[in-house]
Amino acid sequence: MNNSLVTSINELKKQKNAIILAHYYVNGEIQDIADYVGDSFYLSKIAANTDADIIVFCGVSFMGESAKMLNPNKTVLMPDIDADCAMAHMCEVSYIEKVRKEYDDVAVVCYINSTAELKSYSDVCVTSSNALKIVKALPNKNILFIPDKNLGHYISKLVPEKNFIFNDGHCPIHNKILSKHINEAKESHPLAKVLSHPECPAEVLEISDFIGSTSEIIDYALESNDKEFIVATEVGVFHKLQKDNPDKVFYPVIENQICKDMKFITLQKIYDSLLNGTGEMNVSNECTETALNALDKMLVLGK
Ligand code: SF4
Repeated sequence: MNNSLVTSINELKKQKNAIILAHYYVNGEIQDIADYVGDSFYLSKIAANTDADIIVFCGVSFMGESAKMLNPNKTVLMPDIDADCAMAHMCEVSYIEKVRKEYDDVAVVCYINSTAELKSYSDVCVTSSNALKIVKALPNKNILFIPDKNLGHYISKLVPEKNFIFNDGHCPIHNKILSKHINEAKESHPLAKVLSHPECPAEVLEISDFIGSTSEIIDYALESNDKEFIVATEVGVFHKLQKDNPDKVFYPVIENQICKDMKFITLQKIYDSLLNGTGEMNVSNECTETALNALDKMLVLGK
């Protein structure tokens, strides 16, 4: 790690009353200098409650958008404004409108990994850790789950009393992990437990030992007496897993479980952004007003 750069970042942070939030998928050296590291739900709660004047969000654009909408009067900086999530865009507003016309009582449930625009057309946001609780708490029988078909299918199996309408979005990183890859990994590591993120396809989840959000996978590995794990999620999480469990071994399922946009963030970009105020996130007032309803509802129902 570049120690002088880290020292300069910390000095700037103090001068400007800034905090650094980092998702588990960014590079380990970024996680190490962050004030808070976590999954989307945890980070959105921190963003909603911080006293800092500036939030430096080390993640992809939908995360910065959510932080800005929850703190319209604060400055939210994205060290790389081009870091984006492919899945966040994978639903058409026209599709939401079409389903709303077809079902009177439909609730549009929007995974937080989505653009501010999609959130603004939704009734409530969810994360992978609170989706089950929130969907169960909704009075609606019909649920349109956007944009992730895999998480939507996973939740639908756990709430059979509701009627789910799906959308064809997916995370390109999780969606390329298949059951044949899990089986190959199990052949190489027969004692390993398989821990999977619900953004993976159903065929992967069906043969997994544990399914959970990144935070839940981290907690599971820490509490488990097992020593080896095959982990089906983005490899950035291995940094925390290995740090918490030096005596345990973690294997990826396939070689390229990598979200390249999450790796756009570097220490130098964090420094430049803090120094010059570059990468400022802005969301239109119109979008914020409606999207905030869905985000606020998540924070209330997900408590
Ligand atoms: S890992 Fe997938 S869902 Fe997460 S930011 Fe990258 S593309 Fe989006």
